[in-house]
Amino acid sequence: MSDYNSKEEKFIKLYKIIKEQAPNHIFLFKDPFWILIMTVISQRTKDEVTRDAAEKLYNKYKNVNGLSNANSKDVKKIIRKVGFSNVKSVRLIEISRYIKTELNGKIPEEHNLLMKIPGVGTKTANIVLTQAFKIPAIPVDIHVHRVFNRIGLVSTKNPEKTEEELKKIIPKEYQVEFNPVIVEFGKSICKPINPKCNICNIRKYCNYYKTTYLKNRDLNK
Ligand code: SF4
Repeated sequence: MSDYNSKEEKFIKLYKIIKEQAPNHIFLFKDPFWILIMTVISQRTKDEVTRDAAEKLYNKYKNVNGLSNANSKDVKKIIRKVGFSNVKSVRLIEISRYIKTELNGKIPEEHNLLMKIPGVGTKTANIVLTQAFKIPAIPVDIHVHRVFNRIGLVSTKNPEKTEEELKKIIPKEYQVEFNPVIVEFGKSICKPINPKCNICNIRKYCNYYKTTYLKNRDLNK
């Protein structure tokens, strides 16, 4: 007999185990503006590069006013190691100008208003809601999409569909905190290539482990 009666119960059970095994996520900023800026920088960029670039930008420009008056060549120089630095240097200034002029310098707490900021998609909006304002939402990036599909809690083709399904599964009280935990777990244990199933504490509940991992291991014996 299974150890859970619903997908929600399975999520809660596995999430608690994952949280114990995943490394702690260290947040660099509490300010909603810098959480937004850092999330935009982080797309297709390594963590250390993101942190370094965000810290340098913060030290130079301090706030929405500072960054909205920045020169894109200077910003590009600071974020040069970031993925798509050309596009992002212009985008970060655009974002800051929009927030300054259209939103009186204040980051909104509504998903639909966040989505109107240039370059902000649903994942970024959900990260700002959960991390900056502690408002329940389901931010789905490649790690969250992969981990929950492997476990078998969802069976989806893209992050949008995963978000839709997880909304029905993850209780509101877990929505604010789950993303950084699953992201760290996805980076350190449930890696995109060669997941460390042999040391994973939830392997006995995981579809991928029971099907793909064990099968491949037996074939290689
Ligand atoms: S058993 Fe493997 S595939 Fe399943 S969650 Fe753990 S690391 Fe990921």
